[in-house]
Amino acid sequence: MSKKVFGVDIGGTTVKMGMFTDQGELLDKWEIPTRTEDQGKNILPDIADSIRNRMDKESLTTDDVVGIGISVPGPVDDNGIVHKCVNLGWGVFDIDEEMRKHINVPVFAGNDANAAALGEAWKGGGKGCGNVVVVTLGTGVGGGIIVNGKILSGYLGAGGEIGHIHMDDNETEKCGCGNTGCLEQYASATGIARLATRRLAADNKPSSMRSAQHMNAKVVFDAVKAGDEVAKEVAEQFGDILGKGLANVAAVTNPEMFVIGGGVSKAGEIVLDYIKKNYVRYVFHGSRETKFTLATLGNDAGIFGSAKLVLDGVAQS
Ligand code: ZN
Repeated sequence: MSKKVFGVDIGGTTVKMGMFTDQGELLDKWEIPTRTEDQGKNILPDIADSIRNRMDKESLTTDDVVGIGISVPGPVDDNGIVHKCVNLGWGVFDIDEEMRKHINVPVFAGNDANAAALGEAWKGGGKGCGNVVVVTLGTGVGGGIIVNGKILSGYLGAGGEIGHIHMDDNETEKCGCGNTGCLEQYASATGIARLATRRLAADNKPSSMRSAQHMNAKVVFDAVKAGDEVAKEVAEQFGDILGKGLANVAAVTNPEMFVIGGGVSKAGEIVLDYIKKNYVRYVFHGSRETKFTLATLGNDAGIFGSAKLVLDGVAQS
């Protein structure tokens, strides 16, 4: 019987959990609530309980388990030290040491965006590529850079923050990070809605987007697909800014592939088309052939990436 790996992805309301073979095949997945009260002190014991129940059900001993990977919505350094996690009420502590009080198997932890990127690079859109940049276009723009199969987390875990590349000197509104003109202000779901609202306010050109009750990225790309000229201008502006940002990323990392995920990517290949055609206008020739593909793991990317953290961590130690 193959050994098992548990991949855990801690979110603000639920903890996603998956049981994998040591070859990375997902056998089963489930969720438990994230209990954030009392500085989140129940979260790790709850996870340990859930895994122990599962092990009992499958008649597994700790010898049958390679380890547990945990992705956390906050900075985690390469030694598995969590550096404050505001959403969960956590301070600074060693996650492996804390988990070992409840279940005695190796634990490896990482930041959630980076773990999700690792998952996509391993078993998702970037499968088979060692050098991948994963870009998540959601409420914000998340990123993860995988170099030779490893997460580029940087000195303090702040590597791969693609969403905060500076793009526009003339921006007057502030990004969530406090700077102005960040990529995320134009390429996230919220950013695309903002571009569309600004464009519609600029003149009275007819557009189906004017009748939308709430402006969002889906309204824009549905209108693009229906041939709306104003929506196409918005998509072009989005593609121009993101294409330029990713060309800059490529100048540093020379990836084999960009994997595009998050809510915006649900509009499909058309999103890639707008990014790609602008990317090639800006990129250094050595990265002109970089492929673009859609993410495929959706909300499971985190548990896959967490499982991979375990397999990589064990192989190293
Ligand atoms: Zn920013």
